[in-house]
Amino acid sequence: MKSSPSKKDKKKTVALKKTIAKKSAAELALPTAHNPFLDSVNRYFDKAVALLDHPTGLLDQIRVCNSVYYMQFPVRIKGDIHVVQAWRAEHSHHKMPCKGGIRYADSVDQEEVQALAALMTYKCAVVDVPFGGGKGGIRINPKNYTVDELERVTRRYTVELIKKNFIGPSVDVPAPDYGTGPREMAWIADTYQAFAKDEINALACVTGKPVGQGGVRGRTAATGRGLFYAVHEAVNDHELMKKLKLDIGLAGKRVIVQGFGNVGYHAAKFLREGGAIVIGIIEWDGAVVNPKGINIDSLNEHRIKTGSITNYPEAKTIKHGNTVLEHECDILVPAALESQIHIGNAAKIKARIIAEGANGPITADAEEILLKKGSFVMPDMYVNAGGVVVSYFEWLKNISHVRFGRMDKRFEEGSNTRLVNTVEKLTGKSLSVTERQMIARGADEEDIVNSGLEDTMISSYQSIMEIYYSNPKVKDMRVAAFVNSIDKIAQSYLSLGIFP
Ligand code: GLU
Repeated sequence: MKSSPSKKDKKKTVALKKTIAKKSAAELALPTAHNPFLDSVNRYFDKAVALLDHPTGLLDQIRVCNSVYYMQFPVRIKGDIHVVQAWRAEHSHHKMPCKGGIRYADSVDQEEVQALAALMTYKCAVVDVPFGGGKGGIRINPKNYTVDELERVTRRYTVELIKKNFIGPSVDVPAPDYGTGPREMAWIADTYQAFAKDEINALACVTGKPVGQGGVRGRTAATGRGLFYAVHEAVNDHELMKKLKLDIGLAGKRVIVQGFGNVGYHAAKFLREGGAIVIGIIEWDGAVVNPKGINIDSLNEHRIKTGSITNYPEAKTIKHGNTVLEHECDILVPAALESQIHIGNAAKIKARIIAEGANGPITADAEEILLKKGSFVMPDMYVNAGGVVVSYFEWLKNISHVRFGRMDKRFEEGSNTRLVNTVEKLTGKSLSVTERQMIARGADEEDIVNSGLEDTMISSYQSIMEIYYSNPKVKDMRVAAFVNSIDKIAQSYLSLGIFP
């Protein structure tokens, strides 16, 4: 028999209704606000398809977002009930699973998630990762929540995705994005596994996990490392350097990085290790500049100690950080959020090369100004693809249930040692212990991941630039990357056929 609700339960229900009523006007309404980011992505798409010869209907299908799941769910926060708004967009199903991160930010809305999901489709195609694009977002500022609360929000979001089949190793595979990291990915994997007990590939439902939870070595640094490989290719492209009137190579190139999160930190670190001089780092609460160069590891230690990059003793702090975007430099790396370079500041940007570490940091209008000024823009869909490339490797590791290098590392070492022994015997000369170790060493998981990433970034650069150099109608690298990507997706649709 159904019992009537207790006084306590009734009170709780009233409180819940009040919470929902309080939030309904401001927060619960489906946000239809127009997001210029989606406009920019679509404008770039349109610019590229004008150069392609595919049926209009097919191009329309590639452009639209296939499905979006908008959800609102209650989470208990500090004894109260909070209604949380979240999304998952699956932009394209031409290859499965869909792939793309989940971001936690106050600014998340449906159009932003759709724009980011579309970029994921184009990004995966450009670097030959066999996935469709997806993206998720939860409208919260993670800084306002305890770890416990974030775990509850993340697990509840995962359950909502499971209920609608918006997550799974062969369906849709999230990853970290702005405001999330390996910790959140581990919670997602654990929640999914609890519901999919018989799914032997359950761990492949999400990437960017900690290494101890099925992650792959090298994933955390992958986006920054990929950016480094991309820039390295560009500065060693003789034709491009001649056009930009820059010396060949990274050595001595002055770099400014906006954002000192996972992408910005690793990009700055690798660029510096490659010989560049990082003269400025910009964060939300200020920037630090030093024309002689900033030691990235030491700046990071300062940030960990004080909670901010500002007041770093080895550099000058600039309160209005974003003005540093306009400083003189050779390479600017916007690696924070979208729309950071806009019509308000584009004309003042002096960098010759702009490498987009973030997704959509330059608006379409701003890009036109930059291109007119002769800047070379390296687009996000290629430059920051390192993350999803290594996510692909993690997914492969999870479905093959074996660590990269496990089967052949020792064998490789044995062969190399035998080779060194033979050379020593034939020449009568012997190597030092360090030299011997360096030559004989077999590749471990991180070596294999980094090598796969480097190869992908180099070959994608070559394919994109082949279009850039060979087609006079292609005036910039973004259009070349879009042409490369859309053409591959169109070919895939054409060979698939349309069902039914
Ligand atoms: N969030 C990252 C991106 O925008 C990674 C996506 C992934 O690894 O699936 O590319």
